[in-house]
Amino acid sequence: MICNKCIELHWPIRQKALNDGLCIFHTSRENKACDVKTFNAKFFDLFSAYVSGGVRGKTYRQYNFDGIIFPGDIVFFAYFQKVARKPQISFKHCIYYGFSDFSNVVFHNSVMFTGSKFYSASYFTNAVFLENANFFDCKFNDVALFKNTIVNKKLNLARIHAKRNMVHIDGIDEDSVSKIMFDPSEVDAIQFSIQKWPENLYVERRAKDYFIKSETLYRCLKQKAATEHDQRMVSHWHYREKMMALAQLQGGAVWKPWKSITWWYYCCSGFGEDPKRAIKFFAGIFFAAFLVLCGFKLWETGWSPYPDWNKFFEIFAETLALIPLVKSGAVADPSKVSLIVPIKRFVVSLMQIPVSVQIALFAFALRNRFRR
Ligand SMILES: [Zn+2]
Repeated sequence: MICNKCIELHWPIRQKALNDGLCIFHTSRENKACDVKTFNAKFFDLFSAYVSGGVRGKTYRQYNFDGIIFPGDIVFFAYFQKVARKPQISFKHCIYYGFSDFSNVVFHNSVMFTGSKFYSASYFTNAVFLENANFFDCKFNDVALFKNTIVNKKLNLARIHAKRNMVHIDGIDEDSVSKIMFDPSEVDAIQFSIQKWPENLYVERRAKDYFIKSETLYRCLKQKAATEHDQRMVSHWHYREKMMALAQLQGGAVWKPWKSITWWYYCCSGFGEDPKRAIKFFAGIFFAAFLVLCGFKLWETGWSPYPDWNKFFEIFAETLALIPLVKSGAVADPSKVSLIVPIKRFVVSLMQIPVSVQIALFAFALRNRFRR
C-alpha cells in the first residue's frame, strides 16, 4: 500500500505505508518505530534516490521532501554534497523535532521551507542561497541562526512566527541583507547583528505600495533600536522613515511637496541627522541675506562707479549681526534716506528668524551625530 500523504503531496518517489496509511517519513514521531539514526539513514537513502534518479534513472528537477516529520537532530551538509545537478529543493510543511543543521549547504536552485515548524534550533551558518529561499509562514520555537549566510536573490522571512529575537541575522554582508524580505510584523522576531546596513531594504525596492509599507517598517525598526538603546540605528532608521514620508509627498500629483514641513525638514538638516546639510543650508541663507543687505546699501548710498569700501565692509558686519549674540553698530545712515531705516530694520528682523532657526537645526543635527 502506498502512503496517502506521498500521493497528496505529489511525491515522485512514493513510499510504502506503515500501519496507519502513512510512510515512515510522513507518519507521526511516535509511530515511526525507529531511532533517529535509522530514520536519518532512511532519509539519506531517499535523498540518494533523487540524486541517482531512482530505479528508472530519471532526472528530478525538484527534490520533493514536503511534509516530512524529522524526529531528531539532523545535519544536512553531507546529503547536499552529493547533489551534482541543480534541482529545486522543497521542504514545505516539514516538522523538525530535533535541531536541523543546514550549515555550509549551497542551494544552487530555489529552496522552499514554507509552513515548516522548527521545534529546536535551526542553523543556516555559511549557507549559500543562490536562488530564492522561502521561509514564508515558518514557525521557529527555538533559535534560527542565519550567520554569514549568503543571499543571492531573495530570502523571504515574511509571516514567520517566532518569539522576540529568536531569528538571528548575524554577520551577513550588506548586499545579502538588502535581499532579505520581511514585514513590520516580523521585526520583533528578528535580531540583527550587522556591521553595515544597506541604504535601503528589500521592501523599499520591490513592494508596489513601498512608500507606506517602508515607512512603517523603518518606524518599527527605529522603535526596536530605541528599546535596545542603539542610538546609531535609531538615527539611521529615523532618516529612512522620513525619506519614505517625503517620497509619499513627492509621489502625490496634486499636493505640492515643497510646501510640506517634512520637505523643509529634509532640506534644512536631513531630518535633524545631517550636520553637513545643515551647515550648507545655513551658508545659503547667509549668502541670500548678504545679497539683500547689499541691495539696501546700494539704495542707501546710490550707485557710483567708485565703490566706497568702508560702506562695503559694513555689509559684512550687518550680515554677521543677523547671528544671535553677535553685536554690530552698523545701521542705515538716516541723513540720506529716511524711508530706508524702518524698512531695513523690518527686513533684518525677518531675516534673523531663519538664521536663528537654522543655527538651532545645525546644533541639533551635530548633537545627534556625536551622541550616536
Ligand atoms: Zn509518505
